[in-house]
Amino acid sequence: MKVILVPVTPFQQNCSIVICEATKRAAIVDPGGDIERIIAEVERQGVTVEKILLTHGHLDHCGGAKALADHYGINIEGPHREDAFWIDQLPAQSQRFGFADAQAFTPERWLDDGDSVQFGDETMEVHFCPGHTPGHVVFFSRKHKLAFVGDVLFAGSIGRTDFPRGNHADLIRSIREKLWPLGEDVTFVPGHGPASTFGDERRSNPFVGDEVAA
Ligand SMILES: [Zn+2]
Ligand SMILES: [Zn+2]
Repeated sequence: MKVILVPVTPFQQNCSIVICEATKRAAIVDPGGDIERIIAEVERQGVTVEKILLTHGHLDHCGGAKALADHYGINIEGPHREDAFWIDQLPAQSQRFGFADAQAFTPERWLDDGDSVQFGDETMEVHFCPGHTPGHVVFFSRKHKLAFVGDVLFAGSIGRTDFPRGNHADLIRSIREKLWPLGEDVTFVPGHGPASTFGDERRSNPFVGDEVAA
């Protein structure tokens, strides 16, 4: 599995082109916008895009999802149904933040804890991790020890919880009870900023590290 990061939108969101190297088929995680740049990178890699995967309903993560799905004629999977209210607000949010027009949509498949998603010969587990938004999911490749965590966890930080229906206690619980058990040696790609590992965050994250009181 190969991952190409394409930072998109004024928020520099890490859109990921995740490629199954055996089949040259790919999934695109969180195409928040700038879809011409995503399409150009897909062409450069010479891969076939099979589906779009969404971690949560925020504009910078799914603002380009509908346009990209229409461009390739592919399905959108995720996030969890609890984020539908965010997706419904995409057109208003994109105006408010001065983004290119973002279209609302209904994913072909809502995801829940314990589901899995496939592309090419690859499978990723779906872990429900509410807190930043109530319908946030994380994608995890057990085979490659790699997780796409959206805005749940960052290198040295955690997701904001001051948005409507954000919940700090839920977020901390999601990280400690859902992410940490996946293993200290798991590398994660966050929605913003550099990648890290769960082990490094357990040791040094000032918000949710093991030294921080529960
Ligand atoms: Zn977010
Ligand atoms: Zn974000």
